[in-house]
Amino acid sequence: MEQKNVFSEPVKYDLTFAREIFRLENGSYIKQCMNCGMCAISCATRDVMDYSPRQLFNLIKLGKKEEVLTSNTFWSCTSCCTCKARCPRGIPIIDVMHDLKKYAIDHGYTNYPQAAFYKAFWNEMSVRGRMFEGGMTARYFLIRGLDEILKAMDMKDVGIDMLKHGRMPLLPPKKIRGLGGLKKIISKAQELDRKEAR
Ligand code: SF4
Ligand code: SF4
Repeated sequence: MEQKNVFSEPVKYDLTFAREIFRLENGSYIKQCMNCGMCAISCATRDVMDYSPRQLFNLIKLGKKEEVLTSNTFWSCTSCCTCKARCPRGIPIIDVMHDLKKYAIDHGYTNYPQAAFYKAFWNEMSVRGRMFEGGMTARYFLIRGLDEILKAMDMKDVGIDMLKHGRMPLLPPKKIRGLGGLKKIISKAQELDRKEAR
């Protein structure tokens, strides 16, 4: 049987997506990656990632938007910082992962539970300037939908234990002083972010 020579087909590059990622706050560092693989062997959660950071960077350079944005790699990053400390090129991989999380949420790639968690955390913090675990949990499950709410019932014992030990208060804490100032800072940061994205 005739063997297909995979190398006879030219690789198609879509640089539109790559350029968009390179424009993110830490995105241009990706261009400095020399494929040594140090991040891949150092990463504590590599085993559960679809692609290692090194592979993800190569996919970005190839413009493989769907593969990148539907992968679990950046959602599996625990921000441990090991890769950043060991990368011989000094690439702030952890910060690139944060940029990719934000980019994915902004572009509607929010199927992973971590995306719902980030949104719930952010929305809760924006209301009071401090965390209320009960509020964040409720927001998280509302975003995830009915199936996840039903699954959450399996964890009710954990919730009850947290309540008993004062780890999850029933009532929300007071808003911080100067919440208006905090909102102005956030709004200014978001405005700058929008300008940079143009
Ligand atoms: S450690 Fe740095 S240079 Fe090496 S593959 Fe990872 S990102 Fe690239
Ligand atoms: S910061 Fe993220 S990508 Fe880097 S080693 Fe830790 S878990 Fe892996």
